[in-house]
Amino acid sequence: MIATSHILTQLTNRLQSGPFSIGQISVTPASDGRVELRHQDDGGRPGGELESFTDPCAARGIAQYDAEGEYRPLKGSPNLKAGWRLDLAGPEEVRIALDIFYPAALAVWAADCGGRLRVVPLSQTLERQTGMYRYARTISPEGARELTRRQCLTGCSRRPIWSELPVHEMGTSGDALPLLCPEACSFFVAEARLVAKAEFEAKATAAPGPAA
Ligand code: SF4
Repeated sequence: MIATSHILTQLTNRLQSGPFSIGQISVTPASDGRVELRHQDDGGRPGGELESFTDPCAARGIAQYDAEGEYRPLKGSPNLKAGWRLDLAGPEEVRIALDIFYPAALAVWAADCGGRLRVVPLSQTLERQTGMYRYARTISPEGARELTRRQCLTGCSRRPIWSELPVHEMGTSGDALPLLCPEACSFFVAEARLVAKAEFEAKATAAPGPAA
């Protein structure tokens, strides 16, 4: 467990080094100590064209639905809507807003920077599942890799560092503050169950029936 004060210190230091991005968000500190957050797609737009907020909790309303009005259950989905800016008072407000946009991302980053991040292998996550999700344990290694590519690399802004995919497939975050995923989420487990079920059914269909 990383203390909030430690996360805040780390974030303050990062802000002092200049602008950065995290996920789909650009974070720009100003010389007066205020910090602006906006969608990276709005990078070149004048601030007056964007809907402005000064309350970090406005992030909740922004992050809840995509541009088509669809609910975003997975906050790492790369479909954060654009057209807004948060004009925040300083690091503490930035911390609050980013924790809403990308829950626990700053704590994971701080733990990683301090060499204290615990990464949970997929096998352990699946082994813990109970009820109907126990079936997810039977997913094949190849099925898990394909699902990781589809669900995580394409459908999520976080990098699944728990996976067995080669590093070159996961890409790098460059100057961005990394959005790390140290343990497969419940959405992944739910999908893994469906893949495992499809694999089982495919095998059953392919198996030769009893000789007549
Ligand atoms: S398991 Fe995959 S989809 Fe879920 S949060 Fe991690 S990277 Fe995103």
